[in-house]
Amino acid sequence: MRTSILRRAFAAALTATMFAAGGALVAPTGANAASTADATWLAQITKWRKAVADGDSDAPLPAPPKPARTTPTQRVLGTTSTATATTTATATTASPNTVTGRAVNASATAKTLVLYDETGPYAWLGEIYAQQTANLVSHHGAWTAHPVSGYRAGELSGYSAIVYIGSTYDEPLPVSFLDDVLATNLPVLWMYDNIWQLTARKPDFQATYGFTWKQFDFSTVGEVRYNGTSLTRDTINGSGIMDHVITDPSKVTVLGEAVRADGTTLPWALRSGNITYVGEIPFAYVSHDDRYIAFADVLTGVIAPSTPTRHRALVRIEDVGPDADPAELRAVTDYLYSKRVPFTVAVYSRYRNPKGVENGGVAEDYTLRQRPQVVNALKYMQSRGGTLLMHGYTHQLGAENNPYDGVSGNDFEFYRAHVDDADRVIYDGPVVGDSALWAGGRIMASKLEFALAGLAQPTIFEFPHYAGSATDYDVVQSTFGVRYDRGLYFPGRLRGQAADYSHLSGQFFPYAVRDVYGSAVIPENIGNIEPVAYNTHPVRLPADLVASAKRNLVVRDGVASFFYHPYLGTSFLKQSVEGIQGLGYTFVPAASTI
Ligand SMILES: [Zn+2]
Repeated sequence: MRTSILRRAFAAALTATMFAAGGALVAPTGANAASTADATWLAQITKWRKAVADGDSDAPLPAPPKPARTTPTQRVLGTTSTATATTTATATTASPNTVTGRAVNASATAKTLVLYDETGPYAWLGEIYAQQTANLVSHHGAWTAHPVSGYRAGELSGYSAIVYIGSTYDEPLPVSFLDDVLATNLPVLWMYDNIWQLTARKPDFQATYGFTWKQFDFSTVGEVRYNGTSLTRDTINGSGIMDHVITDPSKVTVLGEAVRADGTTLPWALRSGNITYVGEIPFAYVSHDDRYIAFADVLTGVIAPSTPTRHRALVRIEDVGPDADPAELRAVTDYLYSKRVPFTVAVYSRYRNPKGVENGGVAEDYTLRQRPQVVNALKYMQSRGGTLLMHGYTHQLGAENNPYDGVSGNDFEFYRAHVDDADRVIYDGPVVGDSALWAGGRIMASKLEFALAGLAQPTIFEFPHYAGSATDYDVVQSTFGVRYDRGLYFPGRLRGQAADYSHLSGQFFPYAVRDVYGSAVIPENIGNIEPVAYNTHPVRLPADLVASAKRNLVVRDGVASFFYHPYLGTSFLKQSVEGIQGLGYTFVPAASTI
C-alpha cells in the first residue's frame, strides 16, 4: 500500500526547498561567537532561519560577517613573497592545500585558478564559497583551488582565468597576487572584500579602469536586475554590497544592478578591462529565483565568453519504487511521449515500511521483481524516451524515522536527519556505521535488484533527498561517476582534511558541472510541483516552475530542470512542460547535458 500523497509531497518539499536555498548548518563554537559583530551576524542567521520556515529553506549558507568598517582603509596588508610559480599547478612546488578538478566534459577547455581567504573565525566560509565556485567553474573547464595566501608570483600565467573570493575583511593578500592581477590581460573575477588592497597597489587604478570602490552599502536590497531580468536577493543579508564610483563610463560595463528598497540602484557587478568585480558573495542566502543564477552567467562571461546561447530543459519522474502505481507511470509516459519529451525516472528498487504506516501496523518489505506490473511499466517508460536512474536502494534507513516514518520515498537513506520543534528538517550527520563499504553495499544491493527485475544497470545516481556523507559521495563517484541532483558540500575537501559535518551547504546548478567529488552532475534547478501547502511549506505550481525557468533564461547556456511525482497526474505535468517549452527551451535527454 502506498503512503499518502500529502506525506510524500511534504517530504519532497522539505528537501527541495532546503536545497533551493543552498542550505548550510551553522554551529559556531562559543569562541567563534565572541565578538559583538559575530553575535550580530549569528543573530541575523537565526532570524533568517526563522523567516524561511515560511517556505524557503531550513539552513542557510550565510554571507560573511558584516564588514568591520563601512569604508575600508585602502592599504596593502600582505608581504612580498619571493616564491615563484612553476609553469604547472601540479608541480612539486604547488601551494599548500592545492586541489584540482576536471571539466565536466572534454569540450570545456578553460583552466581557472580559484583563490580564497582562509583567516579569521569564519575561514570555513571561504572554503565553502570556493567549493561552490569550483563547482560552477567546472562547467567551462578544469580548475585549481588554494588559499590566496599561497599564491606564487607568476602563477596566474598557467591559467586562462582567475577567480578570487574575498570573504575575510582585510585578509592579507600577497603583493605578488595584487601585482599580477594588475599586470595581466587574463580575465579576473573578484568578489566582495579586499578590493581596497588592489587599488592601494595602483595609485592610478581609477584613471586606468574608470571606476573605483566607494564604500559598503548596507541598504536593504531584495532585487538584482541582470540583462533586463529581475532576480531575488534575500533582504536578511546584512553584509552589504560594495558601492562604486564610476568616473569613465566608456571603460565600465555595469553587468547587474542591485535595487534598494526605495527603488534606487547601485552596481551589483561591473567589468572594466580584464577585471570583473561582484560587490558581494552571491552564494549567501540563495533561493530558486536568486541573483545566484545571474552570477552563474557572469562567471560564464569571464571564463568562457564565447559560449553560445542555448536553453535546454529536463524533466525527471521522481520517487518510483516497487510501490508505484503502474497506471500512473503509463499516464505520464504517454503524455511525455506524445510531446516527444525525453525524461528520466528516479527508481529505488526495494520498498520498506517497517512500522506498517497506513498499513494497520503490519510491516511491508518487497522489491521490484515482486511487482512485475511495475517492472513492465518501467520497461514501457524506457521504450518511450525514459531513462532509469538509481535513486538509492530503499529511500529510507532501517527501522528508523529518518526523519519521518521509515517509509520508502519519505525518508533519507544516506544521511541522518530529524525534524525540530519548528517543523524544520535538521541535518544531523552521516548515518551510524557510515563507510565506503556500507554505502557501496547498498548500491550493490540495489544493482542486484535491478538485475533480478530484468532491468539494465542504471548509469546515473541520485541521492534520496539529495543528501549523503562525503564518504558516500566518493562511493557514488567511483561506482557511477554521474549524479543527477543538487550537491551537499562540507568544509575540508579543498584542504585535504576530513569533512566538517558541522557546516554543510547545498548547491543547485543552472548547468552541468563536475563537482568537488569528481562526479559529473546533471542539474536540477527549478524544483517540483507541490499542490498542497503543508506546515510551513508553500504551494509550488506549474506557474512557479515556469517563472523560475523564465528567470533562468539569463544563463546563456542554462537549463530549466524540474522533477515530478507521477501520482500528481498529467495536468500539472502538461502545464509545466508546455510552459517551459513556450519560453524557448528544448527538452533533451539528461545525459546529453554532460
Ligand atoms: Zn526521492
